[in-house]
Amino acid sequence: MSTDTPTTAPAVHFENVVKRFGDLEVLRGLDFSVQPGERVTLIGPSGSGKTTILRLLMTLEKVTDGVIWVEGEPLSHMRKGERLVTATEAHLREVRKRIGMVFQQFNLFPNMKVLRNITEAPVHTLGVGKDEAVVRARELLDLVGLSDKEDAYPSQLSGGQQQRVAIARSLAMRPDILLLDEVTSALDPELVVDVLDLLKDIAETTDITMLIVTHEMGFARDVSDRVMMFDSGVIVEDSAPDAMFGEPKHERTQSFLRAVL
Ligand code: ADP
Repeated sequence: MSTDTPTTAPAVHFENVVKRFGDLEVLRGLDFSVQPGERVTLIGPSGSGKTTILRLLMTLEKVTDGVIWVEGEPLSHMRKGERLVTATEAHLREVRKRIGMVFQQFNLFPNMKVLRNITEAPVHTLGVGKDEAVVRARELLDLVGLSDKEDAYPSQLSGGQQQRVAIARSLAMRPDILLLDEVTSALDPELVVDVLDLLKDIAETTDITMLIVTHEMGFARDVSDRVMMFDSGVIVEDSAPDAMFGEPKHERTQSFLRAVL
């Protein structure tokens, strides 16, 4: 046993997590932890289970077996004495508030102007006062470079602008943990750089824990503390970005990186 056990709980801890969709075993007993403030990138071929990991953390899916812990609290189950019992909706809502997610397809509310897209959840989910939420939303719009768009509807914005609003919207909830699921995959190439630069900026100026699924290997190398390579629902390699991209050990990682770099 290590004697220098961390005193704070991991931001995220997967304990023997299995996920099946019918007969298809998508995650095969995953064990990993992400420490507070760490930036971890998940890479691997399509279908290897990366998005499912983020969706499980957002409680958009439920584990088949095992336990996911968020900041020391079991997400799928609750502790009752020594026993773990299925978590209540109320418990899940509380834990979920600490996690933000940005999706490939932005998922903005199409019928709401940009400003309201950002204030809606803080006001209705966190109970933040409306004026305070507006002040914060304007700060975030400034951060993402869209101060002049607060009265626009999402359909009036480019994909890159919509994604920057989606990032502002997730930050408005002041999450401890931010999940980024291929956030540039739906963008035209010339819009990708702006979004990646914004994310790098957020990584440099905040201590938000980040789990990132991306095909942008240069970005992964720049922004990550750790990279995990997945294949068929298992982690085949877990290392610092320089080691992962410079000297990948596993044959599966080598062939994957040869194909995408
Ligand atoms: P990745 O993000 O690595 O591309 P995913 O986590 O999206 O992989 O998917 C892993 C596997 O799980 C794929 O084979 C996918 O088709 C399957 N899958 C994901 N979601 C569902 C679902 N809701 N129902 C059935 N199969 C699913």
